[in-house]
Amino acid sequence: MCMALLGSAESRLFIDGTLSAGHAGTFPTVNPATEEVLGVAADADAADMDAAIGAARRAFDDTDWSTDVELRVRCIRQLQQAMRDHVEELRALTIAEVGAPRMLTSAAQLEGPVADLSFCADTAENYQWTTDLGIASPMGMKTHRTVAREAIGVVGAITPWNFPHQINLAKIGPALAAGNTLVLKPAPDTPWAAAVLGELIAEHTEFPAGVVNVVTSSDHGVGALLSTDPRVDMVSFTGSTSTGRAVMSDGAATLKKVFLELGGKSAFLVLDDADLAGACAMSAFTAAMHAGQGCAITTRLVVPRARYDEAVEAAAATMGGLKPGDPNDSGTICGPVISARQRDRIQGYLDSAIVDGGRFACGGGRPADRDRGFFIEPTVIAGLDNDAKVAQEEIFGPVLTVIAHDGDDDAVRIANDSPYGLSGTVFSGDDERAARIAARLRVGTVNVNGGVWYSADMPFGGYKQSGIGREMGLAGFEEYLETKAIATLAN
Ligand code: NAD
Repeated sequence: MCMALLGSAESRLFIDGTLSAGHAGTFPTVNPATEEVLGVAADADAADMDAAIGAARRAFDDTDWSTDVELRVRCIRQLQQAMRDHVEELRALTIAEVGAPRMLTSAAQLEGPVADLSFCADTAENYQWTTDLGIASPMGMKTHRTVAREAIGVVGAITPWNFPHQINLAKIGPALAAGNTLVLKPAPDTPWAAAVLGELIAEHTEFPAGVVNVVTSSDHGVGALLSTDPRVDMVSFTGSTSTGRAVMSDGAATLKKVFLELGGKSAFLVLDDADLAGACAMSAFTAAMHAGQGCAITTRLVVPRARYDEAVEAAAATMGGLKPGDPNDSGTICGPVISARQRDRIQGYLDSAIVDGGRFACGGGRPADRDRGFFIEPTVIAGLDNDAKVAQEEIFGPVLTVIAHDGDDDAVRIANDSPYGLSGTVFSGDDERAARIAARLRVGTVNVNGGVWYSADMPFGGYKQSGIGREMGLAGFEEYLETKAIATLAN
């Protein structure tokens, strides 16, 4: 299997229970830390996607997958076990293909989401699929009422490259546990992280043919077929806000359910009674992690104006010390970004900060000591306000912009002055004051004084242009369910 060799073997598509070559040939997958081609992934064309959607449709319509909870729970646990049994190969793949720092693979980059599959299986096992509302007499007709929850049907899952296992599994786990069938279309930058799921499912699980299909492709248009095809009932998408808009608009013709997890530009608010140095160090550390390629990372550090210079210095002291490094080293926090295109895009934002009158307190470009790999120095930008391009737009790199506030109301105003609403952090010496501020933020997740909101049973998602719906937790499971009201005439 490709993950065992990381280079010489070809990944395959997984369609209708069979591992097969792509009709468009293959495309390379690249190590972002070294720029070396690791190997190739199967390149699907529209005919492959058509076959995958057809297989998922048949598996939903013609088998008892959607009603056999026991089988579903067993299959999900088998997939989890297979991933655990191959965890070291998966770790090597994740570090090489994603450029994920090794230390993150024992958390959200690999082992965390594998462990979280238990939550999906447990939820399906214990879920109350029907609710008895008892007898009533609407319109004078004595009626026994039941509400049933059941699977939506065929789900198209479209995912990005930054945390591929986390995002693939946070869709596959609940969608399948809820009784849907699925076609997974991963990002072209990280095809192997998804392709291995096809191999593990084929070789180590009892998933019936067609229930899960994995379609890797270098062509975004192949994934877009999931949004337009009338046989797909729901698209579950994670990626950029602009692509999310395209998915929503493409899905409109068939009025399919569209679930969106999109971009962010989250704020880290430091109130005037907080430990300023500690808060700024934490903010800088978070912004540099995985080279800033996390949608919920707090990339705007909002600090009291009277202590602005001190805050910039504290953030730069931490961030400047986090040199971009080999993701394979256990001490690396900040590895490469995924591609030359992303690196150049980030550099464009850094250049815009200078044009807008900002300055770099540390970083500002490519590290002088690395001529291979897609690295960017962790960078602190000072001297700009919240209207600047780097404060309004998602950069998706290790870049922190420090902004001054004039008190609590102003801090809230700045945090909410964004098209996004994914996440936020509040730091204060007073928990109640911090909680009051947290309640005013228009975001889907909030960290108060260092609390961690990421876990299998917590819903994750955004307000405003950061998305529609919630992933993970019970809310994330129920996104994949329809609701049926059944009324039986009672005697
Ligand atoms: P992207 O939007 O470019 O691509 C995401 C996926 O969509 C890929 O699989 C891509 O092939 C596919 N795609 C592209 N065009 C499409 C189209 N027209 N129709 C259907 N599919 C299409 O995003 P990316 O660059 O891979 O990932 C980075 C972005 O993802 C960032 O904006 C980040 O904030 C966001 N993200 C959000 C979350 C979240 O949960 N909110 C999590 C991770 C990443």
